[in-house]
Amino acid sequence: MSNCAIVGINWGDEGKGRMVDYFADQYQVVVRYQGGNNAGHTVINEYGKFALNLLPSGIFHPETINLLGAGAVVDLKHLCGEIEKLRAAGVKITPENLKISDRAMMVLPIHPAQDQWEEERLGKEAYGSTRRGISPIYGDKYMKKAIQMGDLLHPESLRAHLKKLIDWKNTVFVAGYGQQPVNYDEILEWIETWGGKLKPHICDAFALLEAAQAAGKSVMFEAQLGALRDIDYGIYPYTSSSNPISAYAPVGSGCPFLKVDEVVGVTKAYSTCVGEGPFVGELDGDAAHDLREAGAEYGAATGRPRRVAWFDIPATRYGTKLQAATALALTKIDVLSYLDEIPVCVAYKLNGEIIDRFPYTADLDDCEPVYETLPGWKCDISKARMWEELPKAARDYVEFLEERVDCRMKYVSVGPEREALIIR
Ligand code: GDP
Repeated sequence: MSNCAIVGINWGDEGKGRMVDYFADQYQVVVRYQGGNNAGHTVINEYGKFALNLLPSGIFHPETINLLGAGAVVDLKHLCGEIEKLRAAGVKITPENLKISDRAMMVLPIHPAQDQWEEERLGKEAYGSTRRGISPIYGDKYMKKAIQMGDLLHPESLRAHLKKLIDWKNTVFVAGYGQQPVNYDEILEWIETWGGKLKPHICDAFALLEAAQAAGKSVMFEAQLGALRDIDYGIYPYTSSSNPISAYAPVGSGCPFLKVDEVVGVTKAYSTCVGEGPFVGELDGDAAHDLREAGAEYGAATGRPRRVAWFDIPATRYGTKLQAATALALTKIDVLSYLDEIPVCVAYKLNGEIIDRFPYTADLDDCEPVYETLPGWKCDISKARMWEELPKAARDYVEFLEERVDCRMKYVSVGPEREALIIR
């Protein structure tokens, strides 16, 4: 038995979903260990095309146990909607193959509302939040005001926690944001309506994973977002509110003694970033437009156009180390096929000095990209399934990146479909 984490190396949207979908049938348990419905994995397979915001990507494999771990935050209504969409496409979702940790936190309608009010209050200084309530719920978690999913099975506890939460929130909402107070009964009814459908899925994740380990089952940990969005090690405060790094996977799964044996870090053949924050070498004009259109770079959760740049070696090397990646998967290399030559950001220039490390966030604004340019291949590579079938220029590009990043690029993805993958 060996456990594996599939994680993002950069700013998110690296194509983790397609990698997780590819690996999912090799693992008996797939766990989402952090985050909520603020990001989305896009998965294309025999059932269709899906943006999975909350559901673990193993959900398409009927024998796989899919778990939303203790570190996840769950918008009850959103999850119900996702389940319905997949069921309508013929995917089997039952209390046996979808589990939710009783320790995961509930996202209530007050959380997206607060997210929006706070972004509006900040005006031009806004974080570029997805407004799905993620920072308010994690804030509540650490203020010890949030409600855990297990309370759905303990009505007395639910009512008592909800009362305390609403009293406190109303203090903030009325005095801080000038809003009308929220109504306890309405929120309780909302919880009962949507939470009622999820009750059969709630479990003791510790016991589930402990038993899975004892039975020799292998676990895949699935992250959303990327290392540079990690709240502790990313470009704070332009980060998520949780830890997408693989070191957090056992903690966020619900069974902190599980070991992560392998870490596949997913990185894209160029850079993209959604939301605010420093992004060295951000392209504009025609170059940005052409790359964004070639890669269809619009957010899976929000439809927002993504900011684009060339492959960034300092950022990717840092992300690879943060993730403790044992191998990398390079995705969307097919997108670069239109280019005569391909710039790669190999270092940054900071205050006249060339640096190859990823600096403290405040310094990133003063960094300029230093490029080296490689020849393009100018042909369709999306049908290649073997390393040798790639043109030499494409192989050289991959080898150049892996040497500079200092981690083996074992997987090269040339299309969104499950089989459009080269394994080296
Ligand atoms: P994730 O959150 O990391 O899973 O990334 P997203 O799902 O937001 O973005 C990845 C997008 O790229 C999805 O639409 C995928 O279907 C698509 N994709 C993934 N790998 C490839 C690839 O190798 N080539 C192309 N052309 N598209 C890909």
